[in-house]
Amino acid sequence: MSAAKPMFNKILIANRGEIALRILRACKELGIETVAVHSTADADAMHVRLADESVCIGPPPARDSYLNIPSLLAACEITGADAIHPGYGFLSENARFAEILEAHNITFIGPSSEHIRIMGDKIEAKRTAQRLGIPVVPGSEGALKDEADALRQAAAIGYPVLIKASSGGGGRGMKVARSAAELPIAYGTARSEAKAAFGDDAVYMEKYLEKPRHIEIQVLGDGKGYAVHLGERDCSLQRRHQKVWEEAGSPALNEADRNRIGAVCAKAVADLGYSGAGTIEFLYENGEFYFIEMNTRLQVEHPVTEAITGIDLVNEQIRVASGSGLSFRQEDVKFEGHAIECRINAEDPHTFAPSPGTITYFHPPGGLGVRVDSGVYQGYRIPPYYDSLIGKLIVHGRTRVECMMRLRRALDEFVVDGIKTTIPLFRELVDDKDIADGAYDIHWLEKKLAVSH
Ligand code: ADP
Repeated sequence: MSAAKPMFNKILIANRGEIALRILRACKELGIETVAVHSTADADAMHVRLADESVCIGPPPARDSYLNIPSLLAACEITGADAIHPGYGFLSENARFAEILEAHNITFIGPSSEHIRIMGDKIEAKRTAQRLGIPVVPGSEGALKDEADALRQAAAIGYPVLIKASSGGGGRGMKVARSAAELPIAYGTARSEAKAAFGDDAVYMEKYLEKPRHIEIQVLGDGKGYAVHLGERDCSLQRRHQKVWEEAGSPALNEADRNRIGAVCAKAVADLGYSGAGTIEFLYENGEFYFIEMNTRLQVEHPVTEAITGIDLVNEQIRVASGSGLSFRQEDVKFEGHAIECRINAEDPHTFAPSPGTITYFHPPGGLGVRVDSGVYQGYRIPPYYDSLIGKLIVHGRTRVECMMRLRRALDEFVVDGIKTTIPLFRELVDDKDIADGAYDIHWLEKKLAVSH
């Protein structure tokens, strides 16, 4: 792993914002040159400034730039990049993109196109998980055929049930039915939402769990039949099925639970021959884990895992993609302390309306155990075209109590002027008794917001 003989000569980062910077930092530490790509709206972005080279790949809309495969291929050809890191979102879980890169002899830093395809189809993913010995949410056998089939399956599973889109993502196309009377409408709306959002109206059914936590396991496979797990993240604090605050480890798990589910996941991923980073997502209720999906990419919340393990996930992704294998084995992984991440969005902290604009003053917090991953700076103008995440505050402490005290202090230091951000929401959460007790499920935040705002 010496700088004299890099694993790749040049990596093109097919993303923007904080994650583009995150990847750039890993490349720099490995002595690998970087190419930033950007839309015309992002010419002033930090990732463009810090990269060795940059290429403009199109106009502001993502479909014309960050999702524009021919432009990305041309950018690789112009710059001589031999690998692409897709980050998260955009093309990161696009099996066709991975396949096209394979055909062009450009390394896709991620799993095989086949594994992306399997996990991108949630019905197929669930079937595969089950075959690999992972416990799943009780539900329909594959896609629902029609309304009569939905009614039959729901009666067998027991109400309430959840209709979910097979191609789903971002919490869209999900509808709850609490009784047979509610089912036809839930089935119909889930299908039309799925068709509109994903161009695929296939839906399936799951038992709707009333008070679960969202707990996910980070895995890394070497692509040669060996894999490790890096423990769990608790992402139960959600708004509209979107994560807001994430912790490692989960306040609800003990070491035995962690090792048990971790071992199941590592073995499954090893048996699959999986390559690179992945996340196996579960709902957790009454001491049981229920698989919901696997994400075949780096996740927004990966830094909390890095904080408690000291392992650089992007570095490992690059190593594995280059054929160098993982830098450690399961027995080398030690979990130390507790970490929390807050997603700082350019949004009103109460209505969550987007708040793009110019950042007139930016002072990120610092000090022991504090990490800020952000692509913004003072004077930066947030373009209105992309998602509203402007940064992540990650805090690490030896215990959860120390972590919370440090988080409170870091939030106090954090100043972002000129736009609205979700920082005030986190200041409220860090002082909440339920949060202090770790006593929350996936519905807690929505209920709290409905009451207090
Ligand atoms: P997406 O890919 O759209 O994000 P997921 O399957 O990952 O969909 O689910 C997102 C969130 O929706 C979960 O974190 C959880 O809050 C909720 N959810 C999903 N499945 C169920 C279920 N069977 N019962 C209750 N809540 C669920």
